[in-house]
Amino acid sequence: TSSAKQFEYKAEMKQLLDLIVHSLYTHPEIFLRELISNASDALGKARFRMLSSDEGIDKSGDLKITITVDKESGNFVIEDTGIGMSEEELIANLGTVAKSGTLGFMESLKAQQKEGQPLDANLIGQFGVGFYSVFMVTDEVTVETKSAEAGSQGWRWVSSGQGTYTIEPIEREARGTKISFTLKEEFKEFAEEYRVEQIIKKYSNFVEYPIMLGSRQINSMTALWQRPKSELKEEEVNEFYKFISNDYKEPLDYLHVSVEGVVSFKALLFIPSEAPMELLYQQGALEKRGPQLYVKKVLIQHECRDLLPEYLRFVSGVVDTEDLSLNVSRELVQSSPVMAKIRQILTSKLLGWFDTLAKEQPEKFRTFYKAFGTILKIGLNTDFTNRDKLIELLRFETTKTGEGEYVTLKQYVGRMAEGQEEIYYHSGNSRAQMLAHPNLEYFRKKDIEVLLLSDPVDVFVIPSLFEYEKKPLKSIEKAEIDASTIEPEAEKLGAEGTVGVISLFKEVLGERVADVVESKRLVSSPVTLVSAKDAMDSQMEKVMKMMQQ
Ligand code: ADP
Ligand code: MG
Repeated sequence: TSSAKQFEYKAEMKQLLDLIVHSLYTHPEIFLRELISNASDALGKARFRMLSSDEGIDKSGDLKITITVDKESGNFVIEDTGIGMSEEELIANLGTVAKSGTLGFMESLKAQQKEGQPLDANLIGQFGVGFYSVFMVTDEVTVETKSAEAGSQGWRWVSSGQGTYTIEPIEREARGTKISFTLKEEFKEFAEEYRVEQIIKKYSNFVEYPIMLGSRQINSMTALWQRPKSELKEEEVNEFYKFISNDYKEPLDYLHVSVEGVVSFKALLFIPSEAPMELLYQQGALEKRGPQLYVKKVLIQHECRDLLPEYLRFVSGVVDTEDLSLNVSRELVQSSPVMAKIRQILTSKLLGWFDTLAKEQPEKFRTFYKAFGTILKIGLNTDFTNRDKLIELLRFETTKTGEGEYVTLKQYVGRMAEGQEEIYYHSGNSRAQMLAHPNLEYFRKKDIEVLLLSDPVDVFVIPSLFEYEKKPLKSIEKAEIDASTIEPEAEKLGAEGTVGVISLFKEVLGERVADVVESKRLVSSPVTLVSAKDAMDSQMEKVMKMMQQ
């Protein structure tokens, strides 16, 4: 129209639009996530102004997002009742690349293109690529907006993303912004309600304002983690868990975290009821896992590895912080001091939670430990800051517990036999097999408790503990014990007989053994296998052999 003024985009704009259109084409659906995220931001700003009892603000109507599509014409409309924009704001916000994140995105894209790599889907997920992503799916966009400042004028902004845009005043009743466009032929699918619903569910399900498609609200749940813990209903929380984890079972337990301080974030974290299949059968599965990272209620990364150390990545859930920008890149996420701080706090909260479970709900803890104990033990050799806390979480069956019953190292030390100075362990494939071992005879006679290690990883982690409460940990194969102190000399062969038997054994076994010696550890069995002082425990040797195959 004649009243429309024409403007030029700022210099980098053309380049940005070009890049977006040509590199995001594999993920065109991103445009909707971006428009919803902007609408949600605008609603947040409006709500803030309303809450701060500002008189000069239009407070009418609901805070919501409405999407209307028409599959025949391919028309797409998204409208919010948020803060809106004045003419100056339109020029400042939609005519320049102001965000450093967007520039960072461009840099990464260029780098990837140079190396001829295909575009990494994760890369897109981690950048807010912004309003301009809409030009992937359309040739022309119309933005009609009215600022929430009382008495504001409405404005229409139109652009085909080709270097210029126009602005003109319009009559507009409602506060907020309406963005409309016609989808390019090849993107008509986004005018199908089912498709729009799918995308909303995928990226924006927990946006805290209603997203209406026609007259239906699509985002089924609010951001549960933003609510105070006391307002969380178990059913809701369970449903949320199933949604984010694709588990059909209820979680074993959940933890709500709300931290304000050096960093601020909220988190809702879950222990699954059993170890996910991929963790059991897929090598390297832990490396790829992590909770979802949200920034201000917008999903940034589906599996954010940087939020938890590897040994805690069986925990699933959501972490939402205000301290990162929506446009944050993966590199920035990784190296950000904010993330390091969040990881540190979460780790300590999780270990504290497990400890509380152990004390207050021992049955639950037992289930937890059976499912995830093996993974947890990785931390003993990787997280030295929390090693002491992890050691307290360790549980063992022993020669004095029933099957499936556990003791802690503290309990073990607390009930050590008189004069016992070491913590003894025995490793093997099964409890029954271990209990039948001749090396246990001496300990049984002496009424000394022995830890029974049947988890294959135990042979790697337990010896590396060295000691607990100043008591050295010792494999019973290596313990320097003398059974003669409990059995009379009577049945001994005598020096000559012993030498004869030993040389016979050496002859028969030959190279298969390092040595044959007279044993002081046996009570009623005639022979046993032991390891040399500086050699591996025999179970460790077995496991190592298995791994080399
Ligand atoms: P970002 O959201 O990271 O700031 P965008 O390119 O998505 O970058 O949006 C640019 C700016 O345009 C926003 O910061 C905001 O000021 C303005 N804007 C976009 N959409 C809306 C909207 N629906 N309501 C009000 N302002 C908006
Ligand atoms: Mg945005």
